[in-house]
Amino acid sequence: EEASTATTGGPRRRRVLVFPIPYQGHINPMFQVAGLLQDRGFAVTVFHTHFNAPDPSRHPAYDFVPVPDGLPAGSPGTVAATVEHIFAINGSCEAPFRERLAALLEAPGGRDEVACLVADAHLLTLMDVARQQGVPTLALRTGSAACFRNFMATPMLCDKGYLPVSAESQLDAPVRELPPYRVRDLMAVTSSRHEHDLVCKLLARAVEAVSTSAGFILNTFDALEADDLAATRRDLAGVPVFEVGPLHKISPASSSSLLPQDRSCLDWLDAQAPASVLYISFGSLASMSGEDLAEAAWGVANSRQPFLWALRPGLARGAALPDGFGAETEGRGLVVGWAPQEEVLAHGAVGGFWTHGGWNSALEGACGGVPMLCRPCFGDQMGNARYVEHVWRAGIALDGGVLERGAVERAVRRLMRSEEGEEMRGRARELGSRAAEAIAEGGSSRHSVDKLVNHIMSLWK
Ligand code: UDP
Repeated sequence: EEASTATTGGPRRRRVLVFPIPYQGHINPMFQVAGLLQDRGFAVTVFHTHFNAPDPSRHPAYDFVPVPDGLPAGSPGTVAATVEHIFAINGSCEAPFRERLAALLEAPGGRDEVACLVADAHLLTLMDVARQQGVPTLALRTGSAACFRNFMATPMLCDKGYLPVSAESQLDAPVRELPPYRVRDLMAVTSSRHEHDLVCKLLARAVEAVSTSAGFILNTFDALEADDLAATRRDLAGVPVFEVGPLHKISPASSSSLLPQDRSCLDWLDAQAPASVLYISFGSLASMSGEDLAEAAWGVANSRQPFLWALRPGLARGAALPDGFGAETEGRGLVVGWAPQEEVLAHGAVGGFWTHGGWNSALEGACGGVPMLCRPCFGDQMGNARYVEHVWRAGIALDGGVLERGAVERAVRRLMRSEEGEEMRGRARELGSRAAEAIAEGGSSRHSVDKLVNHIMSLWK
């Protein structure tokens, strides 16, 4: 099947281009997709912004093309600022990406090699650029299938009056068209009209990016989201959907970590009793107030449960753990800046996960067979927490309002030391087994990867 090139006479190389949106939770799955395509014989070129640029020396097999973005360093701090940041990346990368892609295609053998661009679904403008140059696109969404249904349903939910929310009392209303979501779990839920409009535009652009693409890649697996995947296929009529997750089990992403991972915590975990440790992490973007951080800390301390806390610098905008917390938890807890999370969650000593409910974290927790305490902040995190608690029944949602140390302490005890928590752990382990089956020989995700590879080959002219 490999044609010869006129210039070298050797086999024609096939290449995929990838362009992640530069946030940790989006970069990891994109590198994982790149990894699995490379395993199947594709050369990989990574287009990337200067903002949160990957380190090429950690991926010697890939080619890297930096695209100037003109953006200031530092992550945006609010939902509105994050959405604006995504629009700004699309806008400022458009012209330089067009130039760099044209240069790549015009280089000797360039156009011959390139099969497609896999881009984050939030990069519609850049996908348009690629298609204008004759490069087919595939969209990667790094959230769940359920979350993408929420994206697609948003205009209808606005028409029906669920959104924008005008009163606090609406938040607990069930969304009949999209069970098990309540209004408070929806993507575009916010009290600010400005923010509502921005988020609706973001979601509409992502839906357009997916529905105009030659394929849609999701980091999920059939046994986890069979109904939502079937509905997504139905609603997207015509765009092939490839559910290839859990990606971190197929192709590890530690090499795409933007922050150095403190691996010493794995040695510390080796010395802890099985399923005894609560692992705490709120991901790469979520933030909390200094007061919430203090309540969280005292709740954990008062539960007397051993813990490993990945406390990202900047989580609480400069606020530190409260005085006395270190002394109080001496010998029982370890705090690091950034952990090798996939390995931590797969470690036998970890018995629970307090998470913000980012999709990667929820998947990594489920695959590690670890029940979760979810404290969602924004975006898809509320919806993910709803699934963890209500559908997977593998965790507890701590949503709404300020944190309170007594509630935290009770939730930690429930998760780690109650019969109910043990049942959640059993269901989480069951999900972990389903995930392992999905990626094993003959499994649904393995099959999807085969289909994805064949599909990309069919796009390669
Ligand atoms: N992560 C990590 N070390 C940490 C915390 C997080 O490597 O200490 C990784 C985690 O494994 C996951 C990603 O960062 O793959 C976070 O993605 P997620 O979707 O959970 O949340 P986001 O950061 O996008 O809010």
